[in-house]
Amino acid sequence: MIPLSVPELCGNEWSYVKECLDTGWVSSVGPGVTRFEHEMATYLGAGHAVATVNGTAALHVALHVVGVGTDDEVLVPTLTFIASVNAIRYCHAHPVFMDSERESWNLDPAKVAEFLMRECRLKKGRLVNRATGRRIAAILPVHILGHPVNLDPILDVARRFGLVVIEDAAESLGALYKGRPVGTLGDAACLSFNGNKILTSGGGGMILTQRAGWARRARHLTTQAKREEMEYRHDEIGYNYRLVNVLAALGLAQLERLPDFLRRKREIALRYQEALKKIKGITPMPEAPWARSSFWLYSVLLDRRQFPVNKEQVIAAMQRSGIQARPIWYPIHRQPMYRRNQAYRIEVANDLHRCGISLPCSVGLSVEAQGRVVDELHRLGERAA
Ligand SMILES: *Cc1c(COP(=O)(O)O)cnc(C)c1O
Repeated sequence: MIPLSVPELCGNEWSYVKECLDTGWVSSVGPGVTRFEHEMATYLGAGHAVATVNGTAALHVALHVVGVGTDDEVLVPTLTFIASVNAIRYCHAHPVFMDSERESWNLDPAKVAEFLMRECRLKKGRLVNRATGRRIAAILPVHILGHPVNLDPILDVARRFGLVVIEDAAESLGALYKGRPVGTLGDAACLSFNGNKILTSGGGGMILTQRAGWARRARHLTTQAKREEMEYRHDEIGYNYRLVNVLAALGLAQLERLPDFLRRKREIALRYQEALKKIKGITPMPEAPWARSSFWLYSVLLDRRQFPVNKEQVIAAMQRSGIQARPIWYPIHRQPMYRRNQAYRIEVANDLHRCGISLPCSVGLSVEAQGRVVDELHRLGERAA
């Protein structure tokens, strides 16, 4: 079986975890967590980092800390993993679903600006959605599949209207936007170290921000909001969201390997790109001129007019040949919990969902195994043609 994406654990993982066990530092207190935060912040050039139990918790607390609250609205792409959107609801706020653009498959900045200008109005200095009467509080761009969002126009329009921008960089650690690392571009950002992400700590996440005050509050909220005193006194409702030391140890070992992981992901992507050119009806995932993708999850589009079998048939045929492929997410504005939320001019995202599949792309994928994936696509492409 050639899996979609599995972690590679061949560095210092064993020795760092053993060190935790030998010293007894296994829980949420311990030097490893702080070190992991520090090394990640240094690697990315982020001001402050706060480690969390997972990326979803990081998003929840980040949204809370920047001031997203009850009955606010947050602009989010419909084509993302569900966690980006659920985190908005955890803050009792509401998502407004936005479309993707073809150039990057990411949040479309033109439609974001258009929505804010046409569909919202300023009321006592706050931007209010005409349709719902609710305040627009933030924009949550998600750098999907390893590719950065075209962020500058989004940051511009956000500044103009006083909106906060929180990057969901869970899938794109290591990607660059105009030479700058994703996760350091907005007001705050979130990372995930889930098992299938480019860097894994088994489970884990991180909040990044330049603002010391937000970082302090995030750290406070993720550790039960306990005041620095002997007594059990808490000044707000906090969460038990801090990463534990054993997992931070895994994360630290993985972080040492990140440049190598990124290099190999790029090699895999370029090899796919080259090989797939020869198959009619397959469009490889883009890399916009202003982007350096981390190619986290290598994906392609199948053109229904040129490729003889559909997405479901391709995935099933690959499964039979021992190759794991997966469809791109089902758009969230069409999921039952979110069908009643506003979705603004969604077109491209639906197309990407209809035609998109992700292919095996583990860091450790061999040239031979990748060749098998390409051969299988060749075979399927020629089938009914
Ligand atoms: C993985 C992921 C998350 C959530 O991270 P977890 O660590 O699994 O909680 C959030 N957003 C996106 C886009 C993701 O891919």
